[in-house]
Amino acid sequence: MLNCGHRCPSICGEKCPSKKFCVECKDPTTMSMLVDVIMGQNLGEIDIEEDLILGLSCGHALTVTSLDGMMEMNQYYESKMDKETGVVTYTGKKDLPSDEVPQVACHLCRKPITSLHRYGRRIKVAQLSQRCKKFQIAEAKVVNDAKRAFDVARVRVEENETKFLESLLKHIPEPCEVPPEASTRLLGRMDGTRFFPDTTVDDLTKVYNIPKEHEEAWKKYIHPVLGSLTAFRNINKKVSPTKQLFDAAVSHLYRIKVAPSYDVNLGQVTQPLYPEHATTVSDVVQACILECGLPRDGHGGSSFVDSIQERTNVLIFIITKVSSVISRLDKNNAKSGTNSGWYWFMEDLLLCARVHVEKLQTTAREGKRDRTAAYASVMRMDLIVKTVQLIASKPLPRWPVDEELMKQRRKVTDEWTEQFMIEHKAIKDHCPRGIKDELTEKANIFEERMATAVRAARGDAEYRPNRPSMERDIGTGVPMDIL
Ligand SMILES: [Zn+2]
Ligand SMILES: [Zn+2]
Ligand SMILES: [Zn+2]
Repeated sequence: MLNCGHRCPSICGEKCPSKKFCVECKDPTTMSMLVDVIMGQNLGEIDIEEDLILGLSCGHALTVTSLDGMMEMNQYYESKMDKETGVVTYTGKKDLPSDEVPQVACHLCRKPITSLHRYGRRIKVAQLSQRCKKFQIAEAKVVNDAKRAFDVARVRVEENETKFLESLLKHIPEPCEVPPEASTRLLGRMDGTRFFPDTTVDDLTKVYNIPKEHEEAWKKYIHPVLGSLTAFRNINKKVSPTKQLFDAAVSHLYRIKVAPSYDVNLGQVTQPLYPEHATTVSDVVQACILECGLPRDGHGGSSFVDSIQERTNVLIFIITKVSSVISRLDKNNAKSGTNSGWYWFMEDLLLCARVHVEKLQTTAREGKRDRTAAYASVMRMDLIVKTVQLIASKPLPRWPVDEELMKQRRKVTDEWTEQFMIEHKAIKDHCPRGIKDELTEKANIFEERMATAVRAARGDAEYRPNRPSMERDIGTGVPMDIL
């Protein structure tokens, strides 16, 4: 009922519009208001028996059919249309869209429509979407600033390279044939709670038995880019509004589902809402995720994925620097780099970068970011090549031949070859069009390098007289930067 005593033209549960919308009293100022954007009819022209109206907070009104269309109700709810009457009823919730959802505004004054219960789900998603957009814009700026800082840092490192490498030659490292104790090798290892593996890249003496003087010079030399590792980790840690909401909704549901209650009939405490068939905690969480109906790509913004990619780039940069250290030492004093603790440090660095790239692949695939997934495949190919190059660089004694060691090395090399092929196939099969030429070219270059590295690591490399080390060792001792 309206104040005038006539029937309310709106639907139950929503706030009643003011009496100027009464279709019996026919207030002439409102009768000419456009209320049906589909048919282009004003209040005086519509039939309230067929289509009710909803009053907006701005003082305008729209028919339910118009608003249902504007709010894209069919995208949020399963609907059923009665063939005879044409009346649509909504029967169930659909999964929420993962794309950006714009706010719907009044057709006459552009004020956002935010107060109607009927569209609560759509309105909340739009508000969340706007918050996420703001978050993404802000984070994109932070990512760009950090990228620029990394560019500056790497130039500073490059500038000092020659001086740094020369300074190392004053202290020839001790041979270090036996790998460091596994328990001290933390670099690249996961510690269970953190998202990223350990990235301590300046603990050289204690873990790898690298001369103290080398460690000091290295710390000073590499310091500028360590800030980039930290910056990208901090970006990664920031949680988007979607993720916050998702976490809150899931844990809320979880508490409800596991809540105990006393069953009088059974005379014992039960969990009446515990999901059927769930046996483990993660089963329950899974049920909650399905029920909460929020987007599953919980991390939201692209800054999360970008930060993993950028951290991998920083690590690859550090890897090339360690590679120069090893070959400079080798050149100075036969194999004094490869046979030192720098070798094991490199092994851990490569592991660390590979763990990063695998996380990047998982995240990119979950978020259906095909471009990033394709770039990650190429990055992983690069890292596999470097890994096999490192294996190949270690000389094996030609006499006496260690059959067991040789067999082991061939096995490991073949396993890496298999992984390499998987990534190459991923580029061929799934790389998005726009970047396919660029990445195919890169992949082909890596394939050539891989073939050379594999031959050398397996001991199949041909004899080359201008490389004296090849005579002494079985297909090995090839400096990484030559392969
Ligand atoms: Zn009413
Ligand atoms: Zn009236
Ligand atoms: Zn309005």
